[in-house]
Amino acid sequence: MGLSVVDPSLFSSLDPVVLQGSACAACAAHVFPAQGTCPMCAGIEVAPVPLPTAGVVWSWTTQRLAPKPPFRTDEFAPFSVGYIDLGPVIVEGWLLGKTDWMIGESVRLALAKAWTDDGETVFTYGFEVAE
Ligand SMILES: [Zn+2]
Repeated sequence: MGLSVVDPSLFSSLDPVVLQGSACAACAAHVFPAQGTCPMCAGIEVAPVPLPTAGVVWSWTTQRLAPKPPFRTDEFAPFSVGYIDLGPVIVEGWLLGKTDWMIGESVRLALAKAWTDDGETVFTYGFEVAE
Protein backbone atom coordinates (compact mmCIF):
# COMPACT_ATOMS: atom_id res chain seq x y z
CA MET A 1 0.00 0.00 0.00
CA GLY A 2 1.38 3.35 -0.99
CA LEU A 3 0.69 6.15 1.43
CA SER A 4 0.08 9.59 0.03
CA VAL A 5 2.26 12.18 1.77
CA VAL A 6 2.58 15.96 1.50
CA ASP A 7 6.16 15.69 0.19
CA PRO A 8 7.90 12.33 -0.33
CA SER A 9 11.34 13.98 -0.08
CA LEU A 10 10.75 14.54 3.66
CA PHE A 11 10.88 10.82 4.37
CA SER A 12 13.54 8.14 4.08
CA SER A 13 10.91 5.53 5.02
CA LEU A 14 7.14 5.50 5.59
CA ASP A 15 6.88 2.09 7.27
CA PRO A 16 8.29 2.63 9.77
CA VAL A 17 8.14 6.39 9.41
CA VAL A 18 11.61 7.98 9.34
CA LEU A 19 12.49 11.53 8.32
CA GLN A 20 15.24 12.19 5.81
CA GLY A 21 17.76 14.87 6.62
CA SER A 22 21.18 15.54 5.22
CA ALA A 23 24.60 15.46 6.84
CA CYS A 24 27.74 17.39 5.88
CA ALA A 25 30.95 15.36 5.54
CA ALA A 26 33.08 18.45 6.31
CA CYS A 27 31.48 19.80 9.51
CA ALA A 28 28.96 17.04 10.46
CA ALA A 29 26.03 19.47 10.50
CA HIS A 30 22.66 17.79 10.03
CA VAL A 31 19.71 19.62 8.50
CA PHE A 32 16.06 18.90 7.83
CA PRO A 33 14.65 18.92 5.22
CA ALA A 34 17.64 17.54 3.33
CA GLN A 35 19.66 20.08 1.33
CA GLY A 36 22.23 19.74 -1.41
CA THR A 37 24.76 22.02 0.27
CA CYS A 38 25.67 22.65 3.91
CA PRO A 39 24.05 25.81 5.38
CA MET A 40 26.72 25.91 8.13
CA CYS A 41 29.99 25.70 6.13
CA ALA A 42 28.77 25.85 2.49
CA GLY A 43 30.29 22.40 1.97
CA ILE A 44 29.08 20.37 -0.98
CA GLU A 45 29.86 16.91 0.37
CA VAL A 46 26.38 16.45 1.75
CA ALA A 47 24.56 13.14 1.85
CA PRO A 48 21.00 12.11 2.72
CA VAL A 49 20.71 10.56 6.18
CA PRO A 50 17.79 9.03 8.12
CA LEU A 51 17.10 11.02 11.29
CA PRO A 52 16.44 9.65 14.78
CA THR A 53 12.72 9.01 15.38
CA ALA A 54 12.67 10.00 19.05
CA GLY A 55 13.54 13.24 20.75
CA VAL A 56 12.41 15.88 23.22
CA VAL A 57 10.33 19.03 22.90
CA TRP A 58 12.75 21.98 22.60
CA SER A 59 9.99 24.59 22.39
CA TRP A 60 6.33 24.63 21.44
CA THR A 61 3.20 26.72 20.95
CA THR A 62 -0.47 26.07 20.32
CA GLN A 63 -2.21 27.63 17.32
CA ARG A 64 -5.82 28.49 18.21
CA LEU A 65 -6.78 30.42 15.04
CA ALA A 66 -6.83 28.85 11.59
CA PRO A 67 -3.70 29.84 9.66
CA LYS A 68 -4.06 31.37 6.18
CA PRO A 69 -3.36 29.27 3.07
CA PRO A 70 -1.22 27.50 2.02
CA PHE A 71 -1.99 25.87 5.38
CA ARG A 72 -4.57 23.25 4.62
CA THR A 73 -6.75 20.95 6.72
CA ASP A 74 -10.18 19.33 6.47
CA GLU A 75 -11.53 20.83 9.69
CA PHE A 76 -9.65 23.30 11.84
CA ALA A 77 -9.09 22.53 15.50
CA PRO A 78 -6.44 24.10 17.76
CA PHE A 79 -3.13 22.30 17.31
CA SER A 80 0.38 22.47 18.68
CA VAL A 81 3.62 22.86 16.79
CA GLY A 82 7.08 22.64 18.19
CA TYR A 83 10.76 22.28 17.69
CA ILE A 84 11.87 18.74 18.48
CA ASP A 85 15.48 18.08 19.48
CA LEU A 86 16.37 14.79 17.77
CA GLY A 87 20.03 14.94 18.82
CA PRO A 88 21.92 15.83 15.65
CA VAL A 89 19.25 18.31 14.53
CA ILE A 90 16.21 20.23 15.76
CA VAL A 91 13.14 19.67 13.59
CA GLU A 92 9.93 21.71 13.43
CA GLY A 93 6.69 19.75 13.32
CA TRP A 94 3.20 19.18 14.59
CA LEU A 95 2.77 17.97 18.14
CA LEU A 96 -0.05 15.44 18.08
CA GLY A 97 -2.83 14.42 20.42
CA LYS A 98 -2.95 17.34 22.87
CA THR A 99 -2.36 21.09 23.13
CA ASP A 100 -0.48 21.32 26.42
CA TRP A 101 3.21 20.37 26.27
CA MET A 102 6.34 20.69 28.38
CA ILE A 103 9.82 21.59 27.23
CA GLY A 104 11.90 18.45 27.59
CA GLU A 105 8.94 16.11 27.13
CA SER A 106 9.84 12.89 25.29
CA VAL A 107 8.20 12.43 21.89
CA ARG A 108 8.44 10.09 18.95
CA LEU A 109 7.85 10.50 15.25
CA ALA A 110 4.45 9.52 13.82
CA LEU A 111 2.45 9.93 10.65
CA ALA A 112 -0.34 12.49 10.93
CA LYS A 113 -3.36 13.07 8.72
CA ALA A 114 -2.88 16.36 6.87
CA TRP A 115 -6.04 16.48 4.72
CA THR A 116 -8.25 14.38 2.45
CA ASP A 117 -8.11 14.61 -1.36
CA ASP A 118 -10.97 12.89 -3.23
CA GLY A 119 -11.39 10.45 -0.35
CA GLU A 120 -7.66 9.76 -0.10
CA THR A 121 -5.91 10.72 3.11
CA VAL A 122 -2.71 12.70 2.66
CA PHE A 123 -0.23 12.34 5.52
CA THR A 124 2.51 14.44 6.94
CA TYR A 125 4.76 13.86 9.94
CA GLY A 126 4.27 14.88 13.52
CA PHE A 127 5.42 13.93 16.98
CA GLU A 128 3.40 12.20 19.68
CA VAL A 129 4.02 11.55 23.36
CA ALA A 130 6.53 8.72 23.72
CA GLU A 131 5.12 5.88 25.84
ZN1 LIG B 1 29.15 21.67 6.75
